[in-house]
Amino acid sequence: MAKNNKEDKDKGPGIWTMTRKVLKFVFKTVWHEKKSVYLLYLLSALGNGLSELKVLLLPKLLVDEIVAIKDGMPVEDHLKNIVFYVILTVTAEFVSRLLRNIANSSFSWCQTYFDRVLQYGICEKSMSMDFQYTEDPDVLNQLEKAREGISWYSGGVISMLNCFYWIIYNTVLMITVIAIIAVHCPLLIPVQIIAMGLVCWFNVKNQKIELSFFMKLAKSNRLFGYFFFDVPSYRHGLDTRMYESAEMFTERGTIYAKNQIALWEEEAHLQRRNTYKANIANAFRDGLSYFYMGYRAIKGIISLGEFTMCASAASSLYQSLIGIGGNLQDLTQKCSYAYQYLVYLEYPDALKKGTEPVTGDRHVIEFRHVSFKYPRSEEYVLKDVNIKIAPGEHLSVVGLNGAGKTTFIKLLCRLYDVTEGRILVDGKDIRDYSESEYRRLFSVVFQDFKLFAFSLKDNVEMGDTLRPEDQSYLEKTLKLSGIYEDAKNLKKGFDTMIFKSFDEDGTELSGGQQQKTAISRALYRNAPIVILDEPTAALDPLAEYEIYKKFDALVGGKSAIYISHRLSSCRFCDHIAVFADKTVKEYGTHDELVHRKDGIYAEMFAAQAQYYVEAAS
Ligand code: ADP
Repeated sequence: MAKNNKEDKDKGPGIWTMTRKVLKFVFKTVWHEKKSVYLLYLLSALGNGLSELKVLLLPKLLVDEIVAIKDGMPVEDHLKNIVFYVILTVTAEFVSRLLRNIANSSFSWCQTYFDRVLQYGICEKSMSMDFQYTEDPDVLNQLEKAREGISWYSGGVISMLNCFYWIIYNTVLMITVIAIIAVHCPLLIPVQIIAMGLVCWFNVKNQKIELSFFMKLAKSNRLFGYFFFDVPSYRHGLDTRMYESAEMFTERGTIYAKNQIALWEEEAHLQRRNTYKANIANAFRDGLSYFYMGYRAIKGIISLGEFTMCASAASSLYQSLIGIGGNLQDLTQKCSYAYQYLVYLEYPDALKKGTEPVTGDRHVIEFRHVSFKYPRSEEYVLKDVNIKIAPGEHLSVVGLNGAGKTTFIKLLCRLYDVTEGRILVDGKDIRDYSESEYRRLFSVVFQDFKLFAFSLKDNVEMGDTLRPEDQSYLEKTLKLSGIYEDAKNLKKGFDTMIFKSFDEDGTELSGGQQQKTAISRALYRNAPIVILDEPTAALDPLAEYEIYKKFDALVGGKSAIYISHRLSSCRFCDHIAVFADKTVKEYGTHDELVHRKDGIYAEMFAAQAQYYVEAAS
């Protein structure tokens, strides 16, 4: 299965399978989101049909009437006919334009509407797919292909529907004009078909070139986006200014931009030759057609009106053949780009999902012989970790940078699956639990938590649908984390936007205030297990002391895991697990560990105590 998936990803299915799947998706999306689009296509077909009628039939009728007058037939009768045909021509033109204008003006906003719908699909998938994919370069490339593929490469839903519409429309037109030509100038048919075949052949070659460059460009587009949109964003403003690195970044960005332009130039160069050849085939078609029709008119096989009609019909036949061929190629090509969107939306889960419900609110956590390597990495980050956390226990996790503390938390939260061993909650393997129920067990503040450019209130509540709107509860959590007073004094109180990105009245919180907001977010969730990964790193000593003092109030009788470099905070916890050499090297209470001879904890504690003594003196 895994092998098949990989092969699928590498090679992809055939062009017709991709086209079929994408069309099915497009028709379903349009039906589901906006059925009126189909009515617009009907109006457009009526408008275009009228226009064809005007070009094909009315000139013939008019020319025949004029020739009749010239040949000495009664002027009065034929003049009446001429006036009637002219009125018909003007009316057909007017109605046809009106219908097409109505349809076309609506298509442009429908296009934007569907662009939003499709972007929404990408966002939803990106936020719900397994966490480990967020750092997988294959997935990130696929995301880029999906974004580009469904937007300007495929042109989006309306553009693909347009191709389909023109194929149907041109097929009907082709049958009509073939019937006309077959009667008057039958040899025109093979001439148009051969020319069309040649033009399509050269177009196919160009499309293959474009598709191969699309694949090559995915990574360079991503790099381009990173250098020109991500790096200059004001989130990075401080570092770029303080380290005066703007020049370095623009230089790097310019290199990527140059590579990209070189690829585009190469693509254009390869395509140019095929375009010239297609133009030559077209010129031959025109010459041969007029030579043949002229010959038949001079010989008197067809009338002057029929010559006019055949000239229009030949042009319509060629246009419809080109329309069918071109739109078929265009459609398959657009669908092959858009297919990347479906691949992304259907990206298989990395982790097997369980279905078991989580019951109760006091939970036993147990790591049994857990070892772990990050995906795509050969190195173990954790090896044979064994630890048990009782309900209501407060565990402090300490260790040097890179010892695996955050990884331990990520495994517990099931952001990754263990490589070996098992993690049990209440005696059950966590892989068996329903993902959403399991996630609700945790209130976590990660070390690199993120606040969003929404209001402070939204950042704390995070759209928690399980809790009815409750201002007093929000206030309670803000008070507990110590940001209540600051938040109340903001220009729009709790509704103040965080960051100034979308609101000039927005606020730029300090690092400490951001951390307190993140702590409020975790408290608001009120989950039975609280995890704080270095929650006080950005706090000043006073605020840190406040948090420690309130630790019991913050966490209450819930289980808590607390990662901190400041060992003084470990005193507040029941047990301490010291991570070193990829495992839990020491485990016990503060008093047990601090007196252990040659113990890691004892050494770290002494070093920190020494630092504080020195700093104080
Ligand atoms: P700690 O929290 O103790 O500082 P981490 O758990 O963050 O340590 O990291 C443990 C080890 O795992 C480090 O060597 C780190 O480089 C590695 N690591 C962390 N995250 C990833 C990742 N996403 N992919 C690969 N290796 C990682």
